[in-house]
Amino acid sequence: MKVQYLKFMIEYQNGIHIKGTNFWLDAKRKVDFSFISHAHVDHAVRHKEILATKETARLYEHRFGRAKFNILEYNQPKKFHRKSKSSYGVKVELFPSGHILGGAQILLEIEGMRIVYTGDFRLRKCLTAKGAEVKKCDILIMESTFGLPRYIFPHRKEIIKRITEFVDQTLSSGEVPIFLAYSLGKAQEIMQILGNKGYKTCVHGTIFNLTKIYEEFGVKFKNYKLYAKHPSDKVGDLEGRVLIVPPWVRGSAMIKNIPKKRMAILTGWALDPGIKNFFGTDDAFPLSDHADFSELTEYARLAEPKKIYTVHGFSEFPDFLKKEGFDAEQLKNKTKATNTFSKELLLNYDLFQKS
Ligand SMILES: [Zn+2]
Repeated sequence: MKVQYLKFMIEYQNGIHIKGTNFWLDAKRKVDFSFISHAHVDHAVRHKEILATKETARLYEHRFGRAKFNILEYNQPKKFHRKSKSSYGVKVELFPSGHILGGAQILLEIEGMRIVYTGDFRLRKCLTAKGAEVKKCDILIMESTFGLPRYIFPHRKEIIKRITEFVDQTLSSGEVPIFLAYSLGKAQEIMQILGNKGYKTCVHGTIFNLTKIYEEFGVKFKNYKLYAKHPSDKVGDLEGRVLIVPPWVRGSAMIKNIPKKRMAILTGWALDPGIKNFFGTDDAFPLSDHADFSELTEYARLAEPKKIYTVHGFSEFPDFLKKEGFDAEQLKNKTKATNTFSKELLLNYDLFQKS
């Protein structure tokens, strides 16, 4: 199969479809069979059958109810036979994406051609998800959320230093440090960072329940407890503790009833000026579960693909890949233009986390 023909095999229609097979990747509308890369809410659609890791299946069912799963462990290839004479058989392997617990990339081998779809990923180390692997491939379909050169995160140690300084200063002035962190992934990462450094945390119920699932899969956390449901009576619970809540509760009575507090948002978008005003917080730290610009380009170099399709990111990112010598283009949605991840979308995403 020649590379110039391959682009006709992949299309984006509210999800990635590998034509000639029944495989959809993170389909955003109901289909018969879709791979779900991880259990974030923007990947949660009720398909007839879902291919995922066991951790993603567990998180998905906790958040969105029962579903029919085809479970695949990391690095355990499986053959899916062709459905008809005109379709292809596919050999599939899932491997870690380093994004959140259970997060997976997928390698599909069709007639000897290797297609990798990354889903959301990061190459940097984290404490609560298996480190990402990179596999050589012919076609790379990659997320590119932070695909502009201005999005290069500081070293992890530097970010953690800034976070702990914020906590120390806030506690020493008799205020409650509050972190706004997405309830799945980001919250567990900050709990782990703070717990390992000897800080005590209180967490919102949504975060608490998801953390229990992390623990089922062997991820351990120190010094945390559930924050009381009626905080107006229990502000004292927070004495000497850091409060971690999802971003959507920032305007709630739960937060308003805490008289002395300082809030910070944890997001890669913290590199943008004005993000504190956007989220209405006192500070912002770029702790992200996505790859930054340098990780995105490093991934491409390591995978050595003949063709790159980008999804979920800035339309300019393929131009930067072209400068590095790659044949790259953005995979555009045939039915709806949702490829630019704006701050407005980010806010909506944050609000959807309520469900
Ligand atoms: Zn995600």
